Amino acid sequence: MANLLLVLGDQLSADLASLKHATADDLIVMGELKTEATYVRHHPKKIALIFSAMRHFAIELRERGLSVDYHEYDPDATVTSFTDLIQQSLAQNPNRFSKILLTFPGEVRVLKEFKRWQDDLELPVEILDDTRFFVTPKAFKEWAGDKTQLTMEHFYRWQRQTTGVLMAGEEPVGGQYNFDKQNREPPKQKLNPPKAYEPRPDEITLEVLDLVETHFGSHFGDLRPFHLGVNRREALEFLNRFIEERFEHFGAYQDAMMAGEPFMYHSLISFYLNIGLLSAREVVEKAEAAFEAGAPINSVEGFIRQILGWREFVRGVYWLKSPEYDSKNLLNHQRALPSFFWSESLETDTHMACLRESISQTREHAYAHHIQRLMVIGNFCLLAGINPREVQEWYLAVYADAFEWVELPNVVGMILYADDSFATKPYAASGAYINRMSNYCKDCHYTVSHKNGDSACPFNYLYWNFFLRHQERFDGNNPRLNRTYATLNRFDDKKIQLIQSDAQNFLDQLN
Ligand SMILES: Cc1cc2nc3c(=O)[nH]c(=O)nc-3n(C[C@H](O)[C@H](O)[C@H](O)COP(=O)(O)OP(=O)(O)OC[C@H]3O[C@@H](n4cnc5c(N)ncnc54)[C@H](O)[C@@H]3O)c2cc1C
Ligand code: SF4
Repeated sequence: MANLLLVLGDQLSADLASLKHATADDLIVMGELKTEATYVRHHPKKIALIFSAMRHFAIELRERGLSVDYHEYDPDATVTSFTDLIQQSLAQNPNRFSKILLTFPGEVRVLKEFKRWQDDLELPVEILDDTRFFVTPKAFKEWAGDKTQLTMEHFYRWQRQTTGVLMAGEEPVGGQYNFDKQNREPPKQKLNPPKAYEPRPDEITLEVLDLVETHFGSHFGDLRPFHLGVNRREALEFLNRFIEERFEHFGAYQDAMMAGEPFMYHSLISFYLNIGLLSAREVVEKAEAAFEAGAPINSVEGFIRQILGWREFVRGVYWLKSPEYDSKNLLNHQRALPSFFWSESLETDTHMACLRESISQTREHAYAHHIQRLMVIGNFCLLAGINPREVQEWYLAVYADAFEWVELPNVVGMILYADDSFATKPYAASGAYINRMSNYCKDCHYTVSHKNGDSACPFNYLYWNFFLRHQERFDGNNPRLNRTYATLNRFDDKKIQLIQSDAQNFLDQLN
């Protein structure tokens, strides 16, 4: 008998576990569903990317001779959820299927839905491991064991040894596992990153763009121009162009930021990795091949660390710590997210050039690179004490690569220190860091070298105010913050009062 297969919008891989052995007798269901399109107010580009990529993928499956029941978005449809979709397929095809075959999803809420079917439906429901990742949640759990602190570097070395990636026998290629120190060049005047590849929307995408404009046009973010890849060929072109045009400088300028250069030397492949158009294994293999062909070790190792290290690590943390993970708030931060995060007129809504640049670029491209997400926007949310739930919702909505398994650990664990199981200290920085790693400060209303007063860079007093607020928790209890508190403890009362009153005035005006 045939199987009923459900393929999700982030499972668009020809070799997906559930699709690997699919036959013409099976039925594959796919749907552009209201619940999925609306559980947060996704950026319109994100919805268009997923709907268009799903439509292209469904065509490819049919070309493989497979049978696909595809549901295009309809706001009035009675089928609004995965459960509706499955129930409808079962009702329309009585006695046709021997089982329902699924691939492990990317979100706790979807896994719960799958598990409910295992309890409620009469048919067997099989959930296969998602083999597109190097590590299963079970293997990560075994690695984590009873460790109280999960250290990415340890996980990464284990991955390098297990997979043999960038290893020469027992030893890491280049003599060390990590070339992080060579990933921190500030931007130079003459840097000229190549223009990003811009595929042209085809008929399918144009139709999706009209649909998204009609139903989701009021969401934060620009839908057009739309130049994301929506099929395997375009995704591969992004990867190949990265290797050819940007990879050489990726390593050195991984942390650099420049006004008007949203993409720098980054790969722009997270969208395609996360929805399945590229596989992590092929990406790592291409990077290794580029090394053989002469690419510098700081680029190759730095890039592989992101994919084999961070990407796998955060997924492991997500499944290990969920379902409680999204409610973590270790520092008890309660401030509302400032409304300018959702603003269409940032130019007037904030005077902070670094935030304005990073958020307006997010609005335009549904993309910001890692250091903007971490050290500008994330750093601001941490220092301003924004409630983690509101930050989570924003990051999940505004980036086209955002899925909960990858967004949540980056927000909860990395930027907000709302959970301390993997960050050994908060990623807090004053304006000096942003000034060193970008050219934003020279066109800012604020002066980065000023520490207090109306002209001072807000990151400066917010930074010290943050460590003052959390002195009891950190001072003397976290060796990595000893130097910070040694400096802070030398401030006199007047300096402390200035910091606190500047911070209070600024925070009072935020909303
Ligand atoms: C607060 C915050 C939220 C984030 N949310 C997401 C998200 O929702 N989805 C997402 O894919 N990435 C997220 N990241 C990680 C990272 O910022 C993006 O993966 C990266 O900016 C994507 O651009 P790129 O493909 O050009 O990446 P590159 O800089 O070229 O890096 C190559 C690849 O490495 C992987 N990678 C790098 N850093 C991380 C990381 N910290 N966690 C997981 N994978 C990583 C990505 O797959 C990326 O495509 C987040 C980071 C932070 C700090
Ligand atoms: S001066 Fe401060 S607020 Fe302005 S761009 Fe620099 S770091 Fe950002």
